[in-house]
Amino acid sequence: MNQIQLVDLHTQYLKIKEEIDTAVLNVIDSTAFINGPEVKSFAAELEAYLNVKHVIPCANGTDALQIALMAIGAKPGDEILTPSFTYIATAEVIALLQLKPIFVEVDTDTFTIDVEDAKSKITSKTKAIIPVHLYGQCANMDAIMELANKENIFVIEDTAQAIGSDYTNSSGEKAKAGCIGHIGTTSFFPSKNLGCYGDGGAMMTNDDELAAQLKMISNHGQRIKYHHDMIGCNSRLDSIQAAVLRIKLKHLDEYTEARNAAADFYSEAFKNIEEITTPYLAPYSSHGFHQYTIKLDNVDRDALQEYLNENDIPANIYYPVPVHLQKGYTEYGAKAGDMPKTESLTSKVLSLPMHTELTEDQLQYIVGHVIRFIKG
Ligand SMILES: *Cc1c(COP(=O)(O)O)cnc(C)c1O
Repeated sequence: MNQIQLVDLHTQYLKIKEEIDTAVLNVIDSTAFINGPEVKSFAAELEAYLNVKHVIPCANGTDALQIALMAIGAKPGDEILTPSFTYIATAEVIALLQLKPIFVEVDTDTFTIDVEDAKSKITSKTKAIIPVHLYGQCANMDAIMELANKENIFVIEDTAQAIGSDYTNSSGEKAKAGCIGHIGTTSFFPSKNLGCYGDGGAMMTNDDELAAQLKMISNHGQRIKYHHDMIGCNSRLDSIQAAVLRIKLKHLDEYTEARNAAADFYSEAFKNIEEITTPYLAPYSSHGFHQYTIKLDNVDRDALQEYLNENDIPANIYYPVPVHLQKGYTEYGAKAGDMPKTESLTSKVLSLPMHTELTEDQLQYIVGHVIRFIKG
């Protein structure tokens, strides 16, 4: 059995090595390193895959969120609703732009934003809501869009963990994650479900005006070279990364199937272990299983993590501290106890190895150790 990794990018690369090597060398040979044809082709192919009008590539998923907030015209003091149970990037860009993050609880089954709590935190200053499709499953977009339409606020979907996931609305219509709200953002960080071999990101929208803003902001606020209509930033996807992504996009559905097969194996093995709650599958979303995250009751979670690590099974906690309790975010005035559901989750969750290359031997070894620790 090969050593188990949290994410096995090397085995995945070996399966597409020839195609990748050729594509990367072609970019070098062309010297079209920035904004070359590979970037334009990738954007067009991702538009077709997602069935969305505009994909605007950028440098990373954090920039994508920042540019999205700039594109909707958010001004210092505006309030942005965001779950506290998320990766720091979501809240960080809000703070950086001198907007005010308003932390919202998550639903304990889905780990995504609690729309009732969001509703109770709307004020006249609320400018946008940023649902995060955490671990690969969509937030309840019907409820979010209904709230946003009623309150006239923007919806920016943080799709960094859920690219390719399908959302089905109450009328039975399907859309890809990130293509339902006003703007979707994603990351192509290597370990993401569609990852490149460095940094990368993108924004998605069906709105022509927002698309023009996103494009302009990510390119120094210029539409015409050296004419700067607004203050922007410099955020581009480079051509080598685009060439890698064009190849990996063709495999994305098959990668998602492999992740789902591993998730099914775990959930089947744990179904009678009462200390373990396996991931809840929402009726309105497919699951990309960016992470396979269990909740543990009456188990010393940290001791289990240590036991697994000692047995060469990398297991991780996403995320050990909610954003509202992070040291760097104390100025927003939250304190322990403000978000009981989120705070409880941070002590219960554990993510097991999840990637496209897990073998049955490895999965058996992992579940065997988890169950042995719990049942003795
Ligand atoms: C990874 C991630 C980001 C940031 O993406 P980068 O490309 O690393 O900047 C933002 N939000 C979430 C939920 C993420 O998982």
